[in-house]
Amino acid sequence: MDVDVKGNLRKILNELPDGVRLVAVSKYHPNESIMAAWEEGQRVFGESHVQELSRKVAELPNDIEWHFIGHLQTNKVKYIAGYISMIEAVDSMKLLREIDRQAAKHDRVIDVLLELHIAEEETKYGLTLDACRSLLAEGEWKELSHVHICGLMMMASYVEDKQQIRNEMMEAANFFDEVKTTYFADDPKFCERSWGMSHDYPIALECRSTLIRVGTSIFGERIY
Ligand SMILES: *Cc1c(COP(=O)(O)O)cnc(C)c1O
Repeated sequence: MDVDVKGNLRKILNELPDGVRLVAVSKYHPNESIMAAWEEGQRVFGESHVQELSRKVAELPNDIEWHFIGHLQTNKVKYIAGYISMIEAVDSMKLLREIDRQAAKHDRVIDVLLELHIAEEETKYGLTLDACRSLLAEGEWKELSHVHICGLMMMASYVEDKQQIRNEMMEAANFFDEVKTTYFADDPKFCERSWGMSHDYPIALECRSTLIRVGTSIFGERIY
């Protein structure tokens, strides 16, 4: 490994203000890289493919908290429901329902975040603010006793323009306040704002992020 995983990790952890946690995004990186971060004390890792995650879970220490950060197909929830710590990118009622159903089978409550689509980029994933408002207003989520909505997640546009990134993240932060006040004022667990990746996490820290998801700046370039 020619990348200084431990040094990179320490540098990022040193920049984090109180109340912000790091999700070390280990997708496409080998077990030895993950173990280097683990030896440095990192316990929260993010993956976005079910097969790769399942293999790593079997091979790596069981005190790791795995966050699923990618788009999750409904038919794959069952493979991760037994152990996943958080599913970050929930963008439909259908997916939320299936997570609830599979979590119930394992007698667990799975923490989830709702994924927002704020970036300009065309993507099929994430809820627009209005779609998220509708999902919450409709109220079915309140009856699901095996999922807990813990906050919001988003990816800013992949652009050079820092002001644009900042605007998008602030839109998400303000929307968090709206949702918190309207639906989760009495729920201390609704507290997570997951934004910020390798290229934009310093901006995310200024935009009230509580979870940054960083891969490349810790582990180096991914080899696909
Ligand atoms: C891959 C990925 C990241 C990490 O990206 P880096 O640029 O390597 O830090 C963060 N969030 C999501 C949703 C990802 O898929």
